Amino acid sequence: MSASENKFSKDLHQKTVASINVYDERERSAITFLLLEYILGIEKSDILANKEIAVSHLKREELEEAIDRINQGEPVQYITGKTQFLNLTFKVNPSVLIPRPETEELVDIIIKENKGRKGLRVMDMGTGSGCIAVSLAYNLPEAEVLAVDISKSALYVAAENASINHAKVTFINDDILNLAETNSTKLDVIVSNPPYVRYSEKKEMQKNVLEYEPKLALFVDDNEALIYYEKIALFSARHLENGGLLYLEINEMLGKETAALVGSFGFNNIEIKNDLFGKPRFIRCSK
Ligand code: GLN
Repeated sequence: MSASENKFSKDLHQKTVASINVYDERERSAITFLLLEYILGIEKSDILANKEIAVSHLKREELEEAIDRINQGEPVQYITGKTQFLNLTFKVNPSVLIPRPETEELVDIIIKENKGRKGLRVMDMGTGSGCIAVSLAYNLPEAEVLAVDISKSALYVAAENASINHAKVTFINDDILNLAETNSTKLDVIVSNPPYVRYSEKKEMQKNVLEYEPKLALFVDDNEALIYYEKIALFSARHLENGGLLYLEINEMLGKETAALVGSFGFNNIEIKNDLFGKPRFIRCSK
């Protein structure tokens, strides 16, 4: 067994970046910072300061294995087991979708619009990692937050995320396609980022999404692309208080159709909002 070797961390960073053969230069560099922190416990600031670091044989091997997984297309968040979402850290594993920056924007809008409201009751339909529900509970501490998911393994991750972030969320294991029949809660805010990618859109998707992220959280049949929105709107029409708010993340190609569907359930003030990439990504409306 060879002893550990001292390395200059900038050099180690550069060599690691060079051994990644997927993504562009910026992303390779960002991934490398995450891997070096996860495996060697060295922070980005120490790497930028070119601090010397001892790398044992074992750690060297761990790093090489991680680089192999990255080169196979595995998302770095599934290797490190965590990601940032707004101001919090979330655990992730392949039973949940990796939280997206668009979804951060949606949660940010909800927090800004509902901050300070007393006795607020909120439901997140299809919570996955719990990023929406936990962020809302954390940032709107007076709200009562419920979160539903059909996947027990996703709820397990979501509950852990609530616990590590000291957020109080009530989790419900149920199918949001049938929830209108089984649940009788009255609510002020409903939010959902349901599956909305049509199978026909698969060919435009990246390998790291397609081969590693849960299909249950992503895809819908082309001939019923809005099925989740229909069931969520039906549930919301029954369970929102008058004036209650519904916030949805949507397929950028189906903005008008989704808005029309929501309108057919009697919702008012329907707005389609763009995401940070300028794409129609959210619907906000009231009952
Ligand atoms: N925006 C996600 C993606 O493109 C999909 C999220 C979803 O289906 N709800 O991968």
